[in-house]
Amino acid sequence: MNVIRTITFKLQLPDGGSTALLDTMRAYSMAFSASALWGFENHTWNKVENHKATYQAVREAVPDLPSSLVQGARDCACEALKASRCKSLPEQKPLAAMRYNQRVITVNLIHGIATIASVQGRIKATFPISEYHRQYLSWTVTSSTVSYDRRKGVFYLHISMDHPDVEPVQEVRVLGIDRGIVNVAVCSDNSFFNSRRVKNVRAKYAHLRTELQSKGTRSATRKLRRIAGRERRFVTDTNHCIAKQITNSDFTVFALEDLSKIRVQKRRSKSFNRKLNTWSFHELEQFLRYKAEALGKQILQMDARYTSQKCSVCGHTYKGNREGSSFQCRKCGFQLHADLNAARNIAQAGISCLSRLPVNQPNVACR
Ligand SMILES: [Zn+2]
Repeated sequence: MNVIRTITFKLQLPDGGSTALLDTMRAYSMAFSASALWGFENHTWNKVENHKATYQAVREAVPDLPSSLVQGARDCACEALKASRCKSLPEQKPLAAMRYNQRVITVNLIHGIATIASVQGRIKATFPISEYHRQYLSWTVTSSTVSYDRRKGVFYLHISMDHPDVEPVQEVRVLGIDRGIVNVAVCSDNSFFNSRRVKNVRAKYAHLRTELQSKGTRSATRKLRRIAGRERRFVTDTNHCIAKQITNSDFTVFALEDLSKIRVQKRRSKSFNRKLNTWSFHELEQFLRYKAEALGKQILQMDARYTSQKCSVCGHTYKGNREGSSFQCRKCGFQLHADLNAARNIAQAGISCLSRLPVNQPNVACR
């Protein structure tokens, strides 16, 4: 199984390094435009043809741009043409990100050093390496991108890495996960992720927000923006922790409701829409997927219908089985926390889905 990750570093450049990289970006952008225009006019995204037609002219126009970057720009242009089926002329901002292949950039993840080709020769940049990044030392770098944040005046290095050796876990132990409003996640092994802290923090922000909104001054608006950022980071951090805890458990297959399908359906109760909007479930799902993948584990997406109305013991499905957070089956009398009952249903659906599938399909949707 191949696992691909992109990690980003903030670059520290030597004197004159910024100017050199900015000039390189401008030249790169010219190369991109030349390739894009030729491909657009000749209605092709073929890289070889594009190369034959444009390479010489581009080399003459921007002689200092390393040839490998000329090729990188051409590849990007051809990919953009392909994406639009040549229906529109791909445009790039003058200081857009540049794609480097391994010949024109060397990245040393142990010491945090990158030598980057530019119109003024190679530039030696440094970037801070943390303990966290050590896990990537054995990975293979596949491509690198250098981008520029004009507002901050900062360059970033994005490294795409490939780890081909993740062994898929053979053993199958399915965990059902129900995501909800009161509880961010409830798992079929009886674990709840609600944390009073999450509720308290969110309530605190909600309170602050109403207060500031009622003030309406400019400084209040500024403060509102600041706390919005803080709250978002809190949600992200919490999602990270939950995903980590869940994926590091003994379970090897994680079954989730497919919430993406639901948003497009029209008639949904208010409470369901709130469920979707109050927590960043998509983000939680991304993190779960990301972490599970790296461990060789699987994510299954289940049909979300009736998971909260169905009895996880006898299968009787009835709307009145659930009332708020409590579930009581009208047929067999089984009682349980409603979210936990839903999580068990999701787990069962996951198990029956797996029995119908060939093994080792990492991320599949079951409907
Ligand atoms: Zn029942």
